[in-house]
Amino acid sequence: MRQTRRRVPVQRYSPPSSPLRKRRRASAASDVSSYQSPPSQSAAVQSSSSPSPSLTVSAADNANKSNTTFSLEQVQILRQRLLDWYVDNHRELPWRAPPRHQKNGKAPKPMQNMDCPSSPGAPYAVWISEVMSQQTRLSVVVQYYKRWMQELPSVKHLAEAPLERVYELWAGLGYYRRARFAHEAAKQIVDQHDGRIPGDVNSLLKLCGIGRYTAGAVSSIAFGHAVAAVDGNVERVLSRLRSGLSQNCAPGKERSRAYWEVASACVEDIENAGDLNQALMEVGASVCKPKGAQCEKCPLTALCDAYQEAQRAKVEASSYVSRYPMKDKTKRIKVRSETVIALVVFVQRGGRREVLLRRREGDGLLGGLWETPNRVVDWDLDDCGDEAFREVLREVDGVAGVCCGENGEYSDLNLVDAGQVRHVFSHIRQRLVVKALKVEVTKDEAGRRGDGYRWVSETEVEKCAISKQMRKVVDAALKKA
Ligand code: SF4
Repeated sequence: MRQTRRRVPVQRYSPPSSPLRKRRRASAASDVSSYQSPPSQSAAVQSSSSPSPSLTVSAADNANKSNTTFSLEQVQILRQRLLDWYVDNHRELPWRAPPRHQKNGKAPKPMQNMDCPSSPGAPYAVWISEVMSQQTRLSVVVQYYKRWMQELPSVKHLAEAPLERVYELWAGLGYYRRARFAHEAAKQIVDQHDGRIPGDVNSLLKLCGIGRYTAGAVSSIAFGHAVAAVDGNVERVLSRLRSGLSQNCAPGKERSRAYWEVASACVEDIENAGDLNQALMEVGASVCKPKGAQCEKCPLTALCDAYQEAQRAKVEASSYVSRYPMKDKTKRIKVRSETVIALVVFVQRGGRREVLLRRREGDGLLGGLWETPNRVVDWDLDDCGDEAFREVLREVDGVAGVCCGENGEYSDLNLVDAGQVRHVFSHIRQRLVVKALKVEVTKDEAGRRGDGYRWVSETEVEKCAISKQMRKVVDAALKKA
């Protein structure tokens, strides 16, 4: 029999011009700035997993859809349930120290003395793991982290390493700017802080590439300071716990500010803010997932607006809660399209092929990385024949021993069509038209006028700092050549 799903009347975020929204904003602002005890707790919801009968959650609180914050009592409950859950459910990671929190009301264990910068929980270990974990799955990060710590076990080692070597250790993680910034920050720490990572958020924020989240994570986890660290996982958990954050705060700066205020209230004046921040992140990563949340395993159901809404509507919580955080449907990221012609020049040396790569100039997203000679064009794809590659050929002619043709005609070159590669950056949709060219290079010629260029054997390409789309280009060309 077909079941009809009951719809729950949820108030949606209204655009900024709405007078209704202005009224809600005023109420939200006062909610966020002042923490009041909740009204009468007559209809208390007691979770079966509640550690203490005195820690109860008001159903009236959870029914209040304008909630953008927690009462003091709710903060107490959240801390206790979250930290107890974290003790039993945290993942062991090479950079993570065991939780300091102890169950049954015992005081947290004292901070460990971190003499070795790469030991779990040490500032350097936490910082590098946070930089690597941005935009990358933890299972991937673990291998990179271990290799990195073997070769660069301290800030000093990182500051003294050549950037090229740092890139090589990073190769495959993507977003190479993170590696460049970490290298730069390490030099700042050596110059300005005698090689010791500062523990306060303001000093951390002055370091290259360190934003509010990383500063909060390092300061709380490695130094025990009572500061928040709000990443995407934490935002999602908070948006579901307090549905008012989506309904009353405009996406963007206003909502972000509200997330930070709620998270800061949760860690205010506690000794082990690092545990609490990591517990929130862990709940977001392993239980409160973007789709298919596992509410039945969550320690926070009794505090959760989204879960309570689903219960009242008698609908399945895991799919219902995915509506939070509500997105701003009026805001679209502008994506532009770009056509790039990319030339893969290679040489056969003995039994192996070597590819000519050049280092990209500038400080942009891909600055400093290796790539095949290429050029962005504003032509139609139909115009990207051999003729279109003339300019790229001119660039490499005479470089690193490459000799492409006489008089700049290049008419007798055997360019192999290797098709197209598509790649999407956050705001650019690229179509790369790829051709391969086999050249002859003598040993004497190799290296001539080759500044910024190098030959790399095809098996070594993935080990050097090359962007993902350029790796696809090289693969496509060598497959066809
Ligand atoms: S109860 Fe469900 S929606 Fe709420 S925080 Fe837990 S997992 Fe997320």
